[in-house]
Amino acid sequence: MADYYDVLGVSRDATPDEIKKAYRKLAREFHPDVNPDPSSTEKFKEITTAYEVLSDDEKRARHDRGGDPFSQGGGFGGGANFGFDDLLGAFFGQGQSRGPRSRARAGQDALIGIELDLAESCFGCDKEITVDTAVRCEKCGGSGCADEAKPQTCPICKGQGEIQQVTRSFIGNVMTSRPCNNCSGYGSVIKNPCRECSGEGRVRSRRTLNVKIPAGVETGNRIAMSGQGEVGPGGGPAGDLYIEIVERPHSFLLRDGLNLHISISISMVAATLGTKVKIQTLDGEQEVDIKPGFQSADTITLKGLGITRLRGSGRGDLIVHVEVKTPHKIKREEEELLKKFAQLRHEQLDQVEIHSRDKHSHEHGFFSKFRDAFNR
Ligand SMILES: [Zn+2]
Ligand SMILES: [Zn+2]
Repeated sequence: MADYYDVLGVSRDATPDEIKKAYRKLAREFHPDVNPDPSSTEKFKEITTAYEVLSDDEKRARHDRGGDPFSQGGGFGGGANFGFDDLLGAFFGQGQSRGPRSRARAGQDALIGIELDLAESCFGCDKEITVDTAVRCEKCGGSGCADEAKPQTCPICKGQGEIQQVTRSFIGNVMTSRPCNNCSGYGSVIKNPCRECSGEGRVRSRRTLNVKIPAGVETGNRIAMSGQGEVGPGGGPAGDLYIEIVERPHSFLLRDGLNLHISISISMVAATLGTKVKIQTLDGEQEVDIKPGFQSADTITLKGLGITRLRGSGRGDLIVHVEVKTPHKIKREEEELLKKFAQLRHEQLDQVEIHSRDKHSHEHGFFSKFRDAFNR
């Protein structure tokens, strides 16, 4: 049997509100009317069943015990009359409830960006961020009323939040209702609004928060801070705050997923004789061993000096691209030595080796891609 918590992507101790939120989000994504993919119908049925179970205390308890949530009552006939309001809610925000609407409404989620340098996203860090969101008005506690007064029942609609009218039409008398203008449908009016929030129940405020950035994040990742978003009108519950990562490009390290790339150049003689060079990495200075007879365009891989795997263990590699520099403008004496060198090796200066197409396109393609990325 499916684990309904997995189906909705919530934890086993999720609150009814979290379950509802998760269901609505998935319903919007997989409802067959909006998702043309044939598999979405099956998926939609699955999430709807999961929600039916987890939103019902009894069924949820039976599911938690590992039993069949539908074993009692026998009322499950495909869920035809189930959750219609919730489904409407998924598409229209709120169920089609009648009567006065609540002043307190859920707040919206907030999104802010945070810039990190490469080392911060590789190793994780603690960041202080400043957020500017609506918070509950402390003066009135979110009620919107001054002097501890309470909203008064609206005299026009008598607290109903709507006005009913009978209109005559060719099919007879028709009863219609519209939201009450006097109270905007709330059923109550605030005679003496709180001065601090003008009756809104919330005020804008700037505050600092500490965020723990896990190791291995990258541009586009979002960190959710539940309940740190905008407080709703009427002091309603706050939405969530999402912090989106933007990684600043490093001056000489290029990130490609878990791996890092660095480009260095050495002299022709160093490549021929071999050498040890020191390079800067995220882990400080590291020695790179260049073996005698090193060929231009070869790479050296430094294991484990790349980016930390997000929520996992291990790290990617640092790949060192080494370019061999040919000297230009050489002195007469140097020229003589090089000619002598060629003579000793029986090298003809017009000697040429033609590479197969494969080799050419492979090397060229790889390198130009890497350079392009570097020169961005
Ligand atoms: Zn009214
Ligand atoms: Zn207030």
